[in-house]
Amino acid sequence: MNGIENVYLQLMTITQNIIEFNQTLTKSVTLIAVSKTKPIPDLLEAYQAGQRAFGENKIQEMTEKWEQLPKDIDWHMIGHVQTNKVKYMAPFVHLIHAVDSVKLLKEIQKQALKNDRTIGCLIQIRIAEEETKFGLPAEELSPLLDAAKEFPNVAIRGLMGMASFTSDQNQVREEFKRLAALFNKTLITYPDCKILSMGMSGDYELAIEEGSTMIRVGSKIFGERNY
Ligand SMILES: *Cc1c(COP(=O)(O)O)cnc(C)c1O
Repeated sequence: MNGIENVYLQLMTITQNIIEFNQTLTKSVTLIAVSKTKPIPDLLEAYQAGQRAFGENKIQEMTEKWEQLPKDIDWHMIGHVQTNKVKYMAPFVHLIHAVDSVKLLKEIQKQALKNDRTIGCLIQIRIAEEETKFGLPAEELSPLLDAAKEFPNVAIRGLMGMASFTSDQNQVREEFKRLAALFNKTLITYPDCKILSMGMSGDYELAIEEGSTMIRVGSKIFGERNY
């Protein structure tokens, strides 16, 4: 196969993947196309296939892509956020998925106010058995949500979680179940917390079965990443 055919096939694959997700997902589940490390032409291909929500995990990379791409894209920051970098994404970020401290909320409030915006946030809950993951222990959610009431330019829109990286489907399901239970409980007191962001390429089907409303899918759309 020559180079041009190869490129053509790759581009068609992204389009095909977006179309297939749109055909299989119900309206209650939002697809975030996780485009971290991927070049602009790949994102444009997804955009031309109708995709408007993209996820990145580095603020600088997301900002560069925002500058170059159409302005009707919703940019989702899905990675861990350093407080001193919030200012770079504050003018445009749509939803910050991995908020896990009052300190970070305070900075988001400050930068949102400066930009005359309200910035949507999800609280990342630690659900994985693994030690390495970021996120808030479940019992610290209520105090954080109460603290967030002091920040008028921050809108807490729901919860986010990442399951353990394991082939044990039962364990992954149990972790999603725990997060979904916490989400449903939270919804009673905080009716604006409507988003449950859980599920990636390897586990989004399980996540949807357990109640996810937002999946973050990278490699199943764009192919494997070469870090
Ligand atoms: C990279 C990443 C994803 C997407 O991972 P895939 O396995 O490629 O779908 C989802 N969520 C977060 C937080 C990520 O960092």
